[in-house]
Amino acid sequence: MRIHSLTVALSLVLSAPALAAQPQPAAPVTAIRAGRLVDPATGTVAINQVILVQNGRFTAVGSNVTIPPGAQVIDLSGLTVLPGLVDAHNHLALTYKEMPERNSYYITSILDDTPLRAIQAASNGIQMLAAGFTIVRDMGNNGHYADIALRKAIEQGWIPGPTIIPSGLIIGGLGGQFSPNPEMAFDKNIVYPEYLDADTPDEIIKAVRRNALVGARVIKICVDCKPWGYTTDEVRLFVSEAAKAGLKVEGHVQTVAGAHRAVEAGLWSIAHDNGMNDTIHKIMAEKRIFRAGTETPISLVGHTTDARYQRTVAMLRNAWENKVPVNFSTDADYYVPGRTRGEVAIEFIETWKAAAIPVPDILRAMTTTGYEVSETTRTRGPIAPGMFADLIAVPGNPLQSIDALRDVKFVLKNGMVFKRDGVMTPAAFFNGGPVNGHNAR
Ligand SMILES: [Zn+2]
Repeated sequence: MRIHSLTVALSLVLSAPALAAQPQPAAPVTAIRAGRLVDPATGTVAINQVILVQNGRFTAVGSNVTIPPGAQVIDLSGLTVLPGLVDAHNHLALTYKEMPERNSYYITSILDDTPLRAIQAASNGIQMLAAGFTIVRDMGNNGHYADIALRKAIEQGWIPGPTIIPSGLIIGGLGGQFSPNPEMAFDKNIVYPEYLDADTPDEIIKAVRRNALVGARVIKICVDCKPWGYTTDEVRLFVSEAAKAGLKVEGHVQTVAGAHRAVEAGLWSIAHDNGMNDTIHKIMAEKRIFRAGTETPISLVGHTTDARYQRTVAMLRNAWENKVPVNFSTDADYYVPGRTRGEVAIEFIETWKAAAIPVPDILRAMTTTGYEVSETTRTRGPIAPGMFADLIAVPGNPLQSIDALRDVKFVLKNGMVFKRDGVMTPAAFFNGGPVNGHNAR
């Protein structure tokens, strides 16, 4: 009875605005003049294009598009316009550092509480957007679901930031990626909330459902963080249970044996390159499993070694030669003094240059393949009518030199200008309430 009355009351409340609705004036139009417009999918450039935006989406793109009277015109005729960039693997609510924790994120997870990390995530998201990253797959290690809170805050209209594809807590066997001592693990629960335990099939199902329930957009698992790891059948169970919620599964893989189980089970994407080799790459290409290799450049001193870097470069080259769908991904979850999170992320192009990946293919990894792994190809990414209006602009030509992406002068997100003439102008992104509805996800 109470439920019935509540339903009636709710339907009255929900229908009230519809009854009072008045004809709305047409939403304002923004027209962008693009001197050059890059299509990363084809690796081509079109000259002197006009891009129309209304209600946060692209409505027209072309050289013969008429600018309607009264439109706000943004002149980017001296710049190269291209779709926004994707970092397919970051942790925005994690920032480990040399002092005081010597870059050990186990210590960071003890020092930094989730509220502080959520604020870090908001700041890191802004820094990523300023560097041109309009989509970030946020793959766990975010305290108690700070990644999902960040997605909601951005989507509801509280703060600017990239579109976040959050995984929620990483699901792993007991201990996750940590090696806690008995008191820390069992008496003080110090592994949590960084990881979600799942050691049996029942626990696997429950863990997937927990993350799905609270808003994860992808499931992240630790395939082989411990020597016992997950079997191929257990990985398959993750995949089938996640599929019920419409979610794909990314696996953290750090051994060749783990990689074999991951590709056999048919994961959506694999993070890190430690377990990669020519055989694994051939299977990934055949099954079209995305590779988020998180290829740390040697220029980020202290975050890789010479030997490790040489292998990373060789394996990235091997993946490209085998036609594996390769993602630009960074795992850039640490503080590099003097650099923003976005500047640290863009530094990873150095590894791709070292692997001699053709520049158009690097750009594709940072855009087109990124939209695919993020599952946004039909909503966000390409500059085409009907898509959410995200784009960036740079002075150089990123099809000739990928370093052009180090100098992002202009950023448009959801049709709103976030950065112009190299300066952040985010006023339109700060609202005193959820302008896109409290359920925006
Ligand atoms: Zn990671």
